[in-house]
Parts: sequence; C-alpha cells; structure tokens
Amino acid sequence: MIKKKHLFNKINKQELRLALSEESFERITASFYHYISIDSPTDLRNDLYDKWDDMKVFGRVYIASEGINAQVSVPEHNWKRFHDHLDTIDVLRKVPIKRALQDGSSFYKLKIKVRNELVAYGVPEELYDMEKVGKHLSAKEYNRAIDDPDSIIVDMRNYYESEIGHFENAVIPEVEISKELLPEVKRLLKGKENDKILLYCTGGIRCEKASSYLMHNGFNDVNQLQGGIIQYAHDIKEQGIDSKFKGKNFVFDDRLGERVTDDILASCHVCGSSCDDHTDCNNDACHILFIQCKECSESLKGCCSKECLDFFSLPIEEQKELRKDPNRVISRTFFDSRVKPRLNR
Ligand SMILES: [Zn+2]
Ligand SMILES: [Zn+2]
Repeated sequence: MIKKKHLFNKINKQELRLALSEESFERITASFYHYISIDSPTDLRNDLYDKWDDMKVFGRVYIASEGINAQVSVPEHNWKRFHDHLDTIDVLRKVPIKRALQDGSSFYKLKIKVRNELVAYGVPEELYDMEKVGKHLSAKEYNRAIDDPDSIIVDMRNYYESEIGHFENAVIPEVEISKELLPEVKRLLKGKENDKILLYCTGGIRCEKASSYLMHNGFNDVNQLQGGIIQYAHDIKEQGIDSKFKGKNFVFDDRLGERVTDDILASCHVCGSSCDDHTDCNNDACHILFIQCKECSESLKGCCSKECLDFFSLPIEEQKELRKDPNRVISRTFFDSRVKPRLNR
C-alpha cells in the first residue's frame, strides 16, 4: 500500500526550472533500459515515483509490460541510494547504468509513464522475437567491423538526430517518426540479407528491437553497438581509440545534445551557416524543433521564422485568443517537413 501522497507533479515548469537553477548540489545525468517481463507496470511505476520523488530524482521514464527505459537526473549525494534502491527491485537488479557524457541541467521534473511499447515502433509482436537480437559489439569491435568493406552501417534514429551527428558512411533513413523507421530500413537494405549489418542508436534500446525485427525478416548477420553512442563515446575516450562517430549525440532532454567530436555536420535552418545547436521555437503555438545559429536566434528572438516572431510578439492574451482557432496553423509555415518530437519541454 502506497502512503497517501501525490504521485504526479503539479507545479508549473517556470517554477520547476527556477527551483532547479537554485539547487545547491550537483546532479548526475544517467540512463538505463532493460527488456524484461514486468507483471504490473503500474505498481512498479508508483513505487519508483514514490522513492525517486523522495530522492529528488528527475527524468523521463517509460515502463511497459516488456520492460523499462529510463533517463534520469540524480542528485550526486543520492547516487548511491539510487543504485541501492534499484538493486532491491527484482527486475532491475544489476541493470547497467550509463552516465551521460556531459552532466548539466537535463531534466527539471520526474515523469514516469506506463506505455504499451518501450520504443514506439508500432510493429506487431509476431514480427520480432526479443529472445533473438543482434550481436552486441563493443566500441573496438564496432570500429573493426566498420573497416570490413562488406559491412553496412545503419543509423536507427530519426533524421533530426542523425543530422547533427552520425557514423561516417552510415545509411541514414530520412524518417521523422519512429513508426516509419523499421519498414524504411528494411526497404533500404533489400538485397543485402547476407551482408554484415551494423546498427546503432543513442543508448542501445532501439537497436534491441530493430535488430530482432531485421533478423526475423531474413537478415543473417545483424550486429548492434553495445550501449549505443553514449557508451561508444565513453569507451573511445577511455581506451584512446579513434571516433568513427562524428559530431553530436542528440539526447531527449533539455541539453538536446552531447558533443562527441568537434565536427559540425549540420547547418542553421534559417541562414545555412555551419551550426549544430537544436532549439525549439519560442512561439508557444509552434515549438518546432530546429537548428538555429546564434545570430538568427537573436534576430528572430528564438523563433523559427518571421511568422512565428510576429505571432510571438503579439500580447499574450491575443495569442491565446488566436490559438483557439484550430484552422490557424502557426507552425510549419517555414519548415513544413519538420516534426515536433516529444520532448516534454
Ligand atoms: Zn542562422
Ligand atoms: Zn515556429
């Protein structure tokens, strides 16, 4: 029985961000995932929320009957307590936790959601078998496999993520939502069923299911980067090996990216100058995610377009009134192909 207390956050984001900026302690950003059968996702959710709220853990966590995917920001002084608590939970004991490359303000509240699927690929269960997943390769093994001329590297993320950083010579599917990804990758790899396929994603979770799906679809040599780009970046640094990943690793929190190498692969969506800083449009009615350089950010006040700046400059009451009209599409005037990813910001 859970003691009576709020299991959801009720405070608005300005206050939460302010509270975060006034904290007197450091935080550690980390992530973990685990595909494991969970009998009651809701019970686990409530238990984690209860304990983590006490420890002032922030983050975004998804729990499904197939497992858990967690990105968290833990007060440094509670780091051990956080670990110890995970070890008391059967399904999470000894789960490998990856620390971020760069700490910093990643999350300002705790959100734990129960979902049907950990990664929203939307593929029916009969099209994969989580007992059969691709071979996990370490950073060193992955680099070696890349050197094999018969290998094909595939980025298993959405386009806006690979735009700012990716492995050299990777196949980059031009998809913007996860649901389109697996069928598109299958299409791109048609005829390569016997080649060495090297998958990678941010932290590894997307490749687990994706590799299983490809194996189920007749691919015979499917490999995945163990722990994703996050682990790879740690390992190349630690082992002093060359990074074949260039640029930034996109992350789904307030930091929006962690730099892996100094290469800048993208350009400002407004003026085209070299830039790989994502931002979301300041216009509350838009909030589109896009890349913008400092100069354009200043001249457009953080908005994605002149249209959004005009709207953003109206008195707030007028904005509210105009937003009631569902036919008034304020966003996507400029970037009609961009989607707004779920950043919960
Ligand atoms: Zn610019
Ligand atoms: Zn906008």
